[in-house]
Amino acid sequence: MVLTDKLTETRELIADSLRSKAAACFTCSFQAEDMVVLSLVREQIPNVPVLFLETGYHFADVYRYRDEMTQRYALNLVNVMPEKTVAEQESQFGLLYQSAPDRCCKLRKVEPLFRALADYEVWFTGLRRVQSPTRANLQPADVFPLPSGKILRKISPLAAWTDQEVWSFAKEYDIPLLPLYEKGYTSIGCEPCTALPMDPENLRSGRWAGRKLECGIHIAKG
Ligand code: SF4
Repeated sequence: MVLTDKLTETRELIADSLRSKAAACFTCSFQAEDMVVLSLVREQIPNVPVLFLETGYHFADVYRYRDEMTQRYALNLVNVMPEKTVAEQESQFGLLYQSAPDRCCKLRKVEPLFRALADYEVWFTGLRRVQSPTRANLQPADVFPLPSGKILRKISPLAAWTDQEVWSFAKEYDIPLLPLYEKGYTSIGCEPCTALPMDPENLRSGRWAGRKLECGIHIAKG
């Protein structure tokens, strides 16, 4: 395996983050890096709550894969739900993902997640610096203020990992990956807002048709 030293550092970071025994969770979109972080965090807390933002707009492949992985690894899956169903939101506001994607993400991702995170002290993510220019300065260990004022420890164990290292780990540990990668997708979110990448150098360039690069969670200041 090519990343032995980095893997050791990553495991140490996760262990350090958990030393205080504070309540920890992991937000998971079931993309490749998430499956790697999930594997590493579960080495230390097998029952870690796996928070999935159930926007109601995911690809059928993502729901199928989520359910398969949940069963395969006996995950403690927590579907984080928005206040309104897709039908309620669309009947009230129309297709917000077309007319106002920031508002749609706020209602279906950002606000539900911040409510869910209130139960925890340590938040693990699968973010990596190479995913997007918006993530270039990502720190492996950071703090994150929720709107309530509560401060979380936000841990991104793979901050410095390359694509090749993620794929290498998945292969080594026999982790199956989302079939959508085989169709050319490099970053996978809600179906209406996900396309093949427009810029091969920017993995997230297929998201939101280039209108934005982040749903708002990781650039929020609380
Ligand atoms: S990614 Fe698109 S569909 Fe999903 S919550 Fe954001 S705007 Fe809505």
